[in-house]
Amino acid sequence: MDEAKHKYGPGPPQARAALEIIDHYIGQLVAVARAAQPYTIVAVVSDHGFTAVSHEVNLPRAFVDAGLITLDGGGKLVSWEAAPWPAGGSAAIILAHPEDQALVARVAQLLARLKADPALGIEEVIGADELARRGAFPGASFGVFYRLDTTGPAARPLTQVLVGPAQQKGTHGHSPTHPQLHSTFIIAGPGIAADRDLGVIDIRAIAPTIARILGASLPQAEAAPLNLPSR
Ligand SMILES: [Zn+2]
Repeated sequence: MDEAKHKYGPGPPQARAALEIIDHYIGQLVAVARAAQPYTIVAVVSDHGFTAVSHEVNLPRAFVDAGLITLDGGGKLVSWEAAPWPAGGSAAIILAHPEDQALVARVAQLLARLKADPALGIEEVIGADELARRGAFPGASFGVFYRLDTTGPAARPLTQVLVGPAQQKGTHGHSPTHPQLHSTFIIAGPGIAADRDLGVIDIRAIAPTIARILGASLPQAEAAPLNLPSR
C-alpha cells in the first residue's frame, strides 16, 4: 500500500486495490489463527498516514547556495557545515558543530528566509528545544515541516533545482498535527468490545497495551496501556 500511495497518491483506485489485497491476506491469517486458537486477539497497526503532494523542495540545494555544503566541480560533496536529512514531509537539519552558536544563527537565518517564500511550502521551522519536546529528530538542531502539498526530495543530486513538480503523487513524514498523517490501530478479539472508536491514541501506548494482554510488562514504556472497551 505504501508503494501504491507513493506512486498514485492516497485516493485513487490503485491505492484502495492494494488495501483490499492486504485486507484479504489479513482475513486469511485471522481465520487460520482463530481456527487454531479461538481466543486469539488480532491487532493491526500502521506507522504513518499519507498525503497527496504536488511539488517537491530540494532543500539541500539551498544549503549549497548558502555555502553550508561545498561541492566540487562535478557536483560531489567536498565538505559540509549544515545539511538537511530529508524525511518526506519534513527534514532534520544536522550541524557538523551544533555547539557553534554562530553557525546555529546562520542556519536559523537561512531557514527563516526559506520559510518566508510561500513557493517552498514550509509550514514550520522549529529549534532543538521544541524538537526534544516533541520527541522528534534526536541530534538535529532544527526541524523543517512542509505543507501537506509539499514533499522533500525523493532522490535528487545536490545540484538539482530548489523547487519542482513532485516525482511522486503521495508521501508522509509531515507533522503529526495533520489528521491525514495519523496511522491505524485496530484491535479485535475475545473480551474486547467490537465497533468502538478508540479516538486518537498515542502510538507509544500500543506496545504496553499488547504487553498487558500477554501478561508481560514493559517497564521502560513511555505511555500507559490503553483502557480497551470490554464486553
Ligand atoms: Zn512510504
